[in-house]
Amino acid sequence: MSSSKPTVLVTGGAGYIGSHAVLALQKAGYGVIVLDNLVYGHQEIAEDVLKVKLIVGDTSDRALLDDLFANHDIAAVMHFAAYAYVGESVQTPDKYYRNNVLGTLTLLEAMLAAGIKHFVFSSTCATYGVPENVPITEDESQKPINPYGKTKLMVEDILEDFDTAYDFRSVRFRYFNAAGADPSGNLGEDHTPETHLIPLVLLTALGKRDSISIFGTDYPTPDGTCVRDYIHVSDLADAHVLGLEYLLKGGETAAFNLGNGSGFSVKEIIEASRAVTGKEIKAIECDRRPGDPPMLVGSAAKAKEVLGWNPRFADVKAIIAHAWQWHQKRHE
Ligand code: UDP
Repeated sequence: MSSSKPTVLVTGGAGYIGSHAVLALQKAGYGVIVLDNLVYGHQEIAEDVLKVKLIVGDTSDRALLDDLFANHDIAAVMHFAAYAYVGESVQTPDKYYRNNVLGTLTLLEAMLAAGIKHFVFSSTCATYGVPENVPITEDESQKPINPYGKTKLMVEDILEDFDTAYDFRSVRFRYFNAAGADPSGNLGEDHTPETHLIPLVLLTALGKRDSISIFGTDYPTPDGTCVRDYIHVSDLADAHVLGLEYLLKGGETAAFNLGNGSGFSVKEIIEASRAVTGKEIKAIECDRRPGDPPMLVGSAAKAKEVLGWNPRFADVKAIIAHAWQWHQKRHE
């Protein structure tokens, strides 16, 4: 696609959040190239839906990166490619440190060698661990409680040090619970295995699963189930474009939370999903899932103030309705 705006490399652009960021960049007029190893990404989403140039490969492949940066005029990188299963990260931490930390370091070194110094990083509220203050601000201490969160925090630290040493500018976005789907119904969440609450609830509504398990009903929360801050994936994508523009305009390295600032319990999500879908959705109360903090709710005041970010789909029912539209289409 010809474009008057610069070209951005999006790693993991065939995955859930990355694909929505590609769409937001395209809509804003940027050129986009996707690098995705297709371990979890979907080739047809990149090529048929987004019609974006897809390079199949890994961020740990330095020769491929050198070649890519030599042959394309890339102004910045948005980095989504990572493993993101908390449970798996506990079972096989080596896999996570290698991919999420070493892979990212290789990418950063290749960027430095090519003289590219703008980086938008997909971090996570999992870097906060079990927070002492809610809503969580960016000043909350970062004490991740699983290897996944630790890998993301390690990259955050690397980015701070790269800024000091090399004037390498980055924006780190700490997401709360990404959910929903592009309002067109053409992009959405499709993980194998699926572990996230909203898609599992909707797959139950579709009859693909018999029931949804509620992991723990004895938490110190109003109804005893865990509370999370669900943020629409298209709003996350918009924030990435704003973060990129902030950096291109000379903004300092910074970290921003991305959430809606309001929490919903597991039971409230199931109830809202029943209202949106009109389906019964059988729920079974189960034991706690290890490693789940009772309540994670973020303050995104800084992103709103500094970046001018304004979530369009803050209503949780709108988030579920878009996800429902996508899942119905995907499983037709
Ligand atoms: N959850 C649940 N049943 C499921 C999947 C998730 O009760 O089948 C709960 C989970 O314990 C957590 C919340 O839903 O409290 C959100 O979980 P998810 O895996 O979607 O995101 P996380 O907060 O772990 O990043």
